[in-house]
Amino acid sequence: MKRPIPVNTVPRASVPFHMLIKPIGAGCNLACRYCYYPQRSQVQKMDEALLESFIRQYIASQPRYSREINFVWQGGEPLLAGIGFYKQALALQQKYAPPGVAISNSLQTNATLLNDAWCRLFKQHRFIIGVSLDGDRQIQDAHRPDKRGNSSYDAALRGIALLQQHQIEFNLLVVVHDGVTDRAQAMYDHFVALGVRYLQFQPLMLEGDAPAAGYGLRAANWGRFMVAIYRRWRSQGHIGQVFVMNIEHVYAQYFTHVSPNCVHAERCGGNLVMEPSGSVYACDHLIDAKHYLGRFDHVSQFAEYVATATEMEFGKTKSLRRECQSCSVKSVCQGGCPAHLGQDRYNRLCAGYYTFFSEVMAPLRSFPRNAQGAVAWRNSVIAPTS
Ligand code: SF4
Ligand code: SF4
Repeated sequence: MKRPIPVNTVPRASVPFHMLIKPIGAGCNLACRYCYYPQRSQVQKMDEALLESFIRQYIASQPRYSREINFVWQGGEPLLAGIGFYKQALALQQKYAPPGVAISNSLQTNATLLNDAWCRLFKQHRFIIGVSLDGDRQIQDAHRPDKRGNSSYDAALRGIALLQQHQIEFNLLVVVHDGVTDRAQAMYDHFVALGVRYLQFQPLMLEGDAPAAGYGLRAANWGRFMVAIYRRWRSQGHIGQVFVMNIEHVYAQYFTHVSPNCVHAERCGGNLVMEPSGSVYACDHLIDAKHYLGRFDHVSQFAEYVATATEMEFGKTKSLRRECQSCSVKSVCQGGCPAHLGQDRYNRLCAGYYTFFSEVMAPLRSFPRNAQGAVAWRNSVIAPTS
């Protein structure tokens, strides 16, 4: 007897959406002093029934035309959920994936708990790995100690070495705050010496533990830091060898008019987050009653959450603020992240964005913003006229 073709009864979202999944909530083996998601938040492992229900509905809710569905696992430290949790998740993804749709997985880790078994799993299933590391031993230990206050540097470097041994590409995520902004060149050189090829600098989020612990990031410092990184990258001739995502994204957005990340997109709101309890919010950086979408309870429908989130004021208006309309870098900035807005509703990093984007865009401005322009610019970079 022929097997009946399963009918998808789950309503589909009208736009592709991402869901950040927190399988262990805020559970973490480190105690970063600026943590935006502190331990006093929920620490709980997602249960198996919720995981299965979530995977089934997350896949079924994507628009019909989606050809790739990405799962993003984050913490706390998501490895604390255990390797069995991810093996089960992978099996469930295969169970529910429709034909012709690729499933991918991204995972952000502090790398300190990695071992060969994790690396084999990530390699086999082509996980896209992000590693959080803030700098050399001194910087890392000053800001990212473990829960007993001890150094996390050696453990993180052991994890990075394992990833490299298993030939797993990873993106290094570096948090930037006022305490490190005069060390840009040394930090960049350090990461390159470690063999890192993909780098992303993340401006400090002024939430969670950060304000009370005295952390901050002035706009001028952010701009100065990123310009120093850009100049170092250029002077070292690292174009095409080391990929600083903050720079690569400017290039991509300049020529394609599409931002590869939510922060500099014209609108946001399609990046939902789910806690282990099933609580869903409109963004990982807007965990409050105003941006609470509901509790995923095995029958809730993500399409409704996405429709609500994409109509929320924060994402709809992010690029519409008055000061941005006549700004010469608006095409690649788009107002930045709404979670960086101060009480005056200005983006706290505005002046820094302006400095950095102006510098990176300067050599691009003579090229048209289309595919031909991108090719002409690439050729000029690869074989510059002397
Ligand atoms: S609020 Fe910020 S982090 Fe959240 S989706 Fe929008 S730009 Fe992205
Ligand atoms: S640099 Fe400032 S004014 Fe210009 S688009 Fe960005 S946030 Fe708006």
